[in-house]
Amino acid sequence: MNDMNTVSVPGLEHLSHSRIQAYLNCGLKFRFHYIDHLRPAFVPAALAYGIAFHEAVEEALAGVMVGAMPPVSDLVGVVARSLDQQERDVPIQYADEGGKDALLELASRMLTAWTAWPRPAGRILAVEHSFEFVLAPGLPPVVGRIDLVTEEADAVVLTDIKTAKSRWSSREIDEHSSQLVLYREAVKQMAAEMGKPVRLAYEVITKTKTPVVERYVIERAPDELDRQRAVAQLVRRAVDAGIFIPQPGWACATCPWAGPCREWGRKLANDGDQATLQERPCATTVALGR
Ligand code: SF4
Repeated sequence: MNDMNTVSVPGLEHLSHSRIQAYLNCGLKFRFHYIDHLRPAFVPAALAYGIAFHEAVEEALAGVMVGAMPPVSDLVGVVARSLDQQERDVPIQYADEGGKDALLELASRMLTAWTAWPRPAGRILAVEHSFEFVLAPGLPPVVGRIDLVTEEADAVVLTDIKTAKSRWSSREIDEHSSQLVLYREAVKQMAAEMGKPVRLAYEVITKTKTPVVERYVIERAPDELDRQRAVAQLVRRAVDAGIFIPQPGWACATCPWAGPCREWGRKLANDGDQATLQERPCATTVALGR
């Protein structure tokens, strides 16, 4: 999608909550990933597991939608196949999470807890509902997928399903809420046609010895979307201007681009400011004036 109201910026061909967060977390990592398209040295096991678990949840909910939750053993099989598939593309770094067998054991415990959890009554409208909308003129379109859309008696409910090391604190619930605020924008028309408000919820399954499933309903102020629009515009302008600032911190320990990051630092030390001024990484394609 690219009309008079949208722009194409290399690295930001579309916006998504995760892509904006990736830029905010470390600009240099964003550049390596989305602009330079450097192959990652590995996939952290926690990330690979999250993707695999999510695929199992998707299969389970698709089963529920047609009347039958698949057995846990089948869902663990989905996790195993996903890990194998991911490993074929890029090696999985299992160091912090044990090996593959430990992850499959964890998946079995978590899926057992999640499938037995008393799900709120409601009609499933969609599983992995894809959306695309324009947040503001001049911005690339926002795209995403909502894990679960249900119709309950008093609301259309958007649910995102997460795995977590432990139960979320109120601070963590707050930190995650911006993602669902974006999702609400994507379905507000559909909900209005159904004559119901939109409710936002997270379903969180802990990766603990005895997994716990909890549902958090998100309440956010109406001006939250304005804030996200402003942040997206700033990120777009920064990417367009070639500003990619590294953010050294705890995330560096599991960064798959730590090698290129060191190279970048060495080049900077050798060449000084000229290096950063001359290596503007991408030519901008703008369909709309700034
Ligand atoms: S090693 Fe750290 S600073 Fe460097 S790109 Fe990765 S996250 Fe960013």
